[in-house]
Formats: sequence, C-alpha cells, structure tokens
Amino acid sequence: MRNFQYQKADSVDAAVTAHRGQPSSFVAGGTTLLDLVKLDVMRPERVVDVNGLPLYDVETLEDGRLKIGAMVSNTDLAYHPRVSAHYSVLAEALLSGASTSLRNKATTGGNVMQRVRCPYFRDGVSDCNKRAPGSGCSAIGGHNRSVHAVLGTSEQCIASHPSDMCVAMAAIGATVVVSGPNGEREIDFLDFHLLPGDSPDREHALDTDELITHVVLDAPINGNRSHYLKLRDRASYQFALASAGVIVATDNGTIRDARIALGGVGTKPWRAQAAEKSLIGQSIGEAAFTKAAQIAFADARPYSQNAFKIPLGQQAIVRSLTTVTQA
Ligand SMILES: Cc1cc2nc3c(=O)[nH]c(=O)nc-3n(C[C@H](O)[C@H](O)[C@H](O)COP(=O)(O)OP(=O)(O)OC[C@H]3O[C@@H](n4cnc5c(N)ncnc54)[C@H](O)[C@@H]3O)c2cc1C
Ligand code: SF4
Repeated sequence: MRNFQYQKADSVDAAVTAHRGQPSSFVAGGTTLLDLVKLDVMRPERVVDVNGLPLYDVETLEDGRLKIGAMVSNTDLAYHPRVSAHYSVLAEALLSGASTSLRNKATTGGNVMQRVRCPYFRDGVSDCNKRAPGSGCSAIGGHNRSVHAVLGTSEQCIASHPSDMCVAMAAIGATVVVSGPNGEREIDFLDFHLLPGDSPDREHALDTDELITHVVLDAPINGNRSHYLKLRDRASYQFALASAGVIVATDNGTIRDARIALGGVGTKPWRAQAAEKSLIGQSIGEAAFTKAAQIAFADARPYSQNAFKIPLGQQAIVRSLTTVTQA
C-alpha cells in the first residue's frame, strides 16, 4: 500500500476544505475504498475521514419526503421504522446486499459512490478504460458473464452498477444533496450516476471536492406495495446477476401507478420508465407484466457470456410485479 495523509473532519465545511488541492478521497465505512487502495486501484494522497460529521439522522420532512444522512449505515436504514413501513423495496434491497458486518459499516453516501466490481478494473493491470482511460476494455472480448451489463453499455465500458440500495432509490425517486466549495446543490438521483459513453472513468455527477451530505427520498406513493427481488448465483453474499425493484399502486384490479428499476443488468441503477408507462391503466395480470418486461429490455445489447441476463431480468420484473399485486 502507498503512503497517504489521513485527516479526520469535524464539520462538512472542514471535510470539503480538507479534500481540496490534491488527489483525495473521503472515507466513510471504508468497505470499498480500503479494498481498492490495498489493490492499488485507488491511489488517494489524502484520505479525509467523514465519520465525525453530523450526518447520521433519518428525518421525515413536512412534505412527506425522507431525508437520510450520508453516514446512516445500511443496517440502520434498512430497519428504520419509516423505511420498513413505507419503503419495503429499499429495506429489502439493503438487506439483500453484502453481509451483516459489511452492512453495519457501509454508509448511504458510500453505497451511492461504490465502484464497479469488474475484475479487470480491480486487478490493476488489465486494459480498462475506467481505471486507465484510453487503454481499452478487457471485458468486451473477455469474461463478461456476471458483473457486466446489457443496458446502457458503450464501446468503452460494459461494467454493471453493483448497488442494490441504488436500484430501490431509483425506483422510489430521490434527490442527492451535496456540499462543495460553492455551497449546497441538489442532483436528481436518476441524473447522479452517468452512462459510460466515451468517458467511463467519469461515473457520477459529483464535482471534484463535493461531498454527499444527504439522500432525500420522494414521498411514498399513496397505497403502494413494493418489493425487491435479487437473482444471483448463490443465495447470499453475492452481487445481483439481475434484480428488480418495483412499486405498484392499484385501484380495483387496475394499475394506477408503477415504478420499475433494475440492477445487475445496467451500467447505472436502471429506471425502466417506458415499461412503467405500459402498466398504467392495465388490469393486474401476467399479460401486462410480460409486456412491461419486454419493453424494459427492448434496447438490451448482450455480450458473449451474458445474454442470459435478458430473460433473467425479465423474469425478475414479472415475479416482482406478481408478488406485489397478489392479495
Ligand atoms: C465482499 C463485499 C460484498 C458486497 N456486496 C454488495 C452487495 O451485494 N450489494 C451492494 O449494494 N453492495 C455490496 N457491497 C458494496 C458495499 O455495499 C459498499 O462497499 C458500501 O456500501 C460502501 O460504503 P462505505 O461507507 O463503506 O464507503 P467507502 O468505502 O468509505 O467509500 C466508497 C467511495 O465513496 C466515497 N464516499 C464515501 N462517502 C462519501 C460521501 N459522503 N460523499 C462523497 N463521496 C463519498 C469514497 O471516497 C469512496 O470513493 C459489497 C462489498 C464487499 C466488500
Ligand atoms: S467493463 Fe469497464 S470496468 Fe470493466 S474492463 Fe471494461 S472499461 Fe474497465
């Protein structure tokens, strides 16, 4: 491991100031950062510890939205009474991720910012446009079965976004609140993670020196039921091959509102808005669910080993919709 400076911040302003001026990383739970520093993939010259910041609260706002501090752990968020009661999709997504001990350390801000699990990115030596821009993408002609996407890929990068929590947040609708040298600003959650395009090294809309302070969830849809289904090679401690977070509200057997987001299949947490629209006003049932699933993957592009993710992702949608609409 390379030497780096360590600084503990006691306020948001101090954290932002300490981050400026040299290659620097915030550290929260450390479950992504320390892994990648030890692998020599991330090379911060300064690490700014944000564990002392007052960002541990979960607060219901007057308009019904839920404001979550960036330092709230994945465990605390999953078991928060309002999340359990009104955002089941988020609680289930959080509890499907990693292991108990990792969830106890992993934070909301760190999970939003976690890096891809592509083995070529993490090995530190293979050609990888995300780690070494312009070097190429080893996954496109190499192993691309489990942690590579079929939606939102480019000729430069096909790594899937690894987070479960972010899929639920994409379905719910959320705002990322960030602080930087020029003060505070808000970023729509759907605009926060970037498609790889020609610059896969740029993964999110955060400017240099900005810190995530909160994620604010939209108010729950009236009368909704929601569910997160994660399909993977083994039942625990594994990233999604395909996952679906769905939220549905119905009136007398007709779908009034629907949200669908996908994990494991997209280069960012993938909101399937055309599929959602196809459900509105339809009768609950397999015909509408299958059609929505087909629409969700209409633009999918499979690679040599991951074509199975298209039917798998479609099944995740149909099964999740069936679960939430059963009496
Ligand atoms: C073995 C293993 C299995 C896992 N399985 C899953 C899984 O199944 N599903 C899943 O979703 N995740 C999984 N994870 C990933 C895990 O959820 C993330 O590592 C964790 O959420 C990151 O949070 P952290 O607080 O530890 O972040 P850190 O490691 O502290 O930071 C991660 C990144 O975010 C930046 N950062 C942290 N906080 C902020 C902030 N407030 N503002 C701006 N930048 C910030 C850091 O600089 C760093 O770049 C797994 C991880 C491991 C090691
Ligand atoms: S898929 Fe992306 S992260 Fe993986 S090798 Fe290609 S460029 Fe790198």
